[in-house]
Amino acid sequence: MLEEAAKTPVQECCGLLAGRDGIIMDIFPATNTDANPATAYEVAPRELFRMIKEIHARNLQLMGIYHSHPRGQNFPSRSDVERAFYPETPYFILSPLPGAPQPVRAFLIRDSNVAELKIELL
Ligand SMILES: [Zn+2]
Repeated sequence: MLEEAAKTPVQECCGLLAGRDGIIMDIFPATNTDANPATAYEVAPRELFRMIKEIHARNLQLMGIYHSHPRGQNFPSRSDVERAFYPETPYFILSPLPGAPQPVRAFLIRDSNVAELKIELL
C-alpha cells in the first residue's frame, strides 16, 4: 500500500484489500477518479464492480478500503466520515510522509463514529 501511495505523491491513491479469515492477502489498486484527487478519492463504479468480482472469483473477501493522505495526517477527514458508506468494512488510511509515526492506520466508520482498529503484521 505504501508503495502505491508513493507512486502518487501529490494525489490520493485508493484501492481495495482482500483476504480470508481476518488476514489480508492481496491488494487491488484502483484509479482515483475524483475531480479533486489531491484531497479526495473516488473509484469509478465499473472498476469497483470489476474488483469485487475478481475478489469473489478468487474466493476472497473484501477486507478493507484504502486511500492515502499525501500531505495530511492519516486520520479520517470530515469528508472521509461523510462518505463512509461501508460501516462493516475497515478503512485504511496511509501517510506516505517520511517519518510518519504510523504510516498505515485502520478505522471503522459507523454513523459518523470513528474507531481505530489494531493492525497486526504476520
Ligand atoms: Zn481521506
